[in-house]
Amino acid sequence: MKQKWTDEEIEILRREYPNHTNKELTKELNISNNQLRRKANILGLKKSKEFWKDESKRISERMTLNNPMKNPEISKKSHETLKKRYASGKLVNHFKGKKRPELTKRNLENNPMNNPQTREKNSQKQIENYKSGKVKVWCDGLTKETDERLKKFSERYTGRDLGEEWRNNIKETHWSKSSQRNEIIKETAKKRIEGYASGRLISPLRGKKIPLEIIEKVLKTKIKNGTMPILEKNPMWKGGLSFEPYGLEFNKNIKNLIRKRDNQVCMNCGVHREKINRALDCHHINYDKNCSVSQNLISLCNKCHTMTNTNREYWQKLFQDKLSKLYEYKYAENGEIILEIKYEK
Ligand SMILES: [Zn+2]
Repeated sequence: MKQKWTDEEIEILRREYPNHTNKELTKELNISNNQLRRKANILGLKKSKEFWKDESKRISERMTLNNPMKNPEISKKSHETLKKRYASGKLVNHFKGKKRPELTKRNLENNPMNNPQTREKNSQKQIENYKSGKVKVWCDGLTKETDERLKKFSERYTGRDLGEEWRNNIKETHWSKSSQRNEIIKETAKKRIEGYASGRLISPLRGKKIPLEIIEKVLKTKIKNGTMPILEKNPMWKGGLSFEPYGLEFNKNIKNLIRKRDNQVCMNCGVHREKINRALDCHHINYDKNCSVSQNLISLCNKCHTMTNTNREYWQKLFQDKLSKLYEYKYAENGEIILEIKYEK
């Protein structure tokens, strides 16, 4: 143990400790590493940020220097020895000829997290870390008002009682492979839809008022993707207007059916009827007011309807494309409506 530090030595230590390695300092002051560290601790000296930056570089250099496999000659020799030992049968390559999934599977089986005790311990540790503020959750300090992702979560789950079973189910699917996960999701969705159809299950959204913004958002996406629900497929539609003769009067009833078919949103801008607080207009796509079949009618808000007064050809093409995509209506190249009449013998 060093008996006494001179003022000069202490000054050197104060000056050089933050930016020099301990090896350099022990050599310069002719002391042991322990002595150096003890004194630095007493004086409250710390390594600087720059030192740690360079330290990582120094470590990797040291690793390279000390790693014999970085020496091409040694590496080559070692590989040859291994090859020989495999060839002679002294060593057995367990992975030879085996596909990667086997390896992955084995790793998964050996995963310490498979042990419930380890998992519990780890999760407790994680919770403690969160509580102490050592580890931060990504959504810490964010709210649905300030963060887009949280807003989406909130919209998706508002009013739903998820329950423990559901949470476990998600956990399971997240842990498994993506193909498996997709299978489970598909299966669950199928079961749920069947449940709703049979009346065994009640939709968590039933009877709940869904915010208008969300309805609009969903329908806009559906218009864009061409996946709008088709009213004609609803048994209540009773054939609708599709196969009615042309001379049908353009009355309130037809307009309401078209608005219903289009889910009460403007098929151009996606605004909902409730938002503009007035009924949507029923526009004649080919501008012929005598042709009031559903293939020629589309719901538009007043604003968009006004726009259709100019560029008529453009709008006709646009709306026909849209309806053919959404409802499988058929139009000829020149814009004529193709009516398919189905009849039973
Ligand atoms: Zn509109």
